[in-house]
Amino acid sequence: EKANKAKSEFLSSMSHELRTPLNAILGFSQFLQLNPKEPLSPPQNEYVELIRTGGDHLLELVNEVLDLARIEADGVHLSLEDVTAGEIVANCVDLTAPLGESRGIRIVDKFTAGPPVFLHTDRLRFRQILINLLSNAVKYNKDGGTVTVEGRETGEGFLHLSVTDTGNGIARKDFSSVFQMFTRLEADSRVAREGTGIGLTVTKLLVEQMAGRIGFESDVGTGSTFWVELPLASNEEVLIWTEALSVGVEAIDEDHRTLFSLLNRLSRRSADDAVVDRIIEELIGYIRYHFRREEAVMEVSGYPDLKDHRGLHRDLAARVNDLAGTLRKEHNPEMLHHLRKFLRQWLIGHIMKVDTEMSPYTKDKAREIRRVLEDIEKADSEISQSPKDEEQENRLALGGVK
Ligand code: ADP
Repeated sequence: EKANKAKSEFLSSMSHELRTPLNAILGFSQFLQLNPKEPLSPPQNEYVELIRTGGDHLLELVNEVLDLARIEADGVHLSLEDVTAGEIVANCVDLTAPLGESRGIRIVDKFTAGPPVFLHTDRLRFRQILINLLSNAVKYNKDGGTVTVEGRETGEGFLHLSVTDTGNGIARKDFSSVFQMFTRLEADSRVAREGTGIGLTVTKLLVEQMAGRIGFESDVGTGSTFWVELPLASNEEVLIWTEALSVGVEAIDEDHRTLFSLLNRLSRRSADDAVVDRIIEELIGYIRYHFRREEAVMEVSGYPDLKDHRGLHRDLAARVNDLAGTLRKEHNPEMLHHLRKFLRQWLIGHIMKVDTEMSPYTKDKAREIRRVLEDIEKADSEISQSPKDEEQENRLALGGVK
């Protein structure tokens, strides 16, 4: 975690340092090309053009690295509002259409004219996601190709939005690396000059933080369809973490975000029983791990109601265990719905009430909190590294290792 944080901070400060000289390089090379008093000779113009396109690419890379570093360091700061999906889609299509004009690539919007779809989401981040998918569909298309945008509401309360291109597609062997950072699958130098291999990594992080999903299908020679699913405004099953829910201790916020995303995974009705069991197991493990961290933070901060809070944690863990046990035996959809609802209400209530009561005590205790959390990590890693006996296995299970 520490190494990750150091990496993100380093990337973030480097990106700032890089942007200033880059702006000078780009600004003055443009100035050379546009200065009517001293026109450039054709070869000079060609060299300056190379400086400019190289600089543009570098600037795009720096901007994307900065965005990613910020997201990795602090999470995404979402600002949720009611949004008509069609308006944003139409606007993104207008913005990206010129990218394909010189290569005869058309974008066909089959979504906007349909019935309106309402989302409760972050407008800017939704645009960023769409623009990334649309510009990839143009960039990796064949000359004269088509990009088609389609959308429909799913039975699970999501908008399924897809962007289909008629490009070269992605080879099956590359499927697993598409969302990895700095992945560039094309060796073609024209294409290589345009991309950075960060866009989809950022897009996936954003979509998941917005309680959505992203995926793709692709056939070599035919093209690819990248799709996202974002919750409809009417979807009350999903939880989206925003700054308003922060309790002021980064580790605890991070736990809450993880619990949100585990619960969101559980709200997929399409998941089969084995998947549901696995998510519940992970969720129970994480809840326990979170309780240990939270109680340790409370203790070191001198929170006066620690004893009661411990009791609450114990009751809740027992209740969830009961529900999960019954569910494992019966796999009844009603039961799952009940468990989800219970966890959702508990989590929101827990964060809003008790955890925010704790935050005044944690002020000025950052160092102590960090130390006590590090001790927990250390104890967990010692358990998992030493030879396992039965008792250790039990402690591990109770500790709920992340
Ligand atoms: P880039 O900035 O390189 O486009 P992305 O993270 O957006 O970075 O995409 C990662 C890689 O995935 C791309 O370099 C490309 O090889 C592949 N890719 C993304 N979208 C498509 C697409 N629509 N068709 C084919 N390949 C794609």
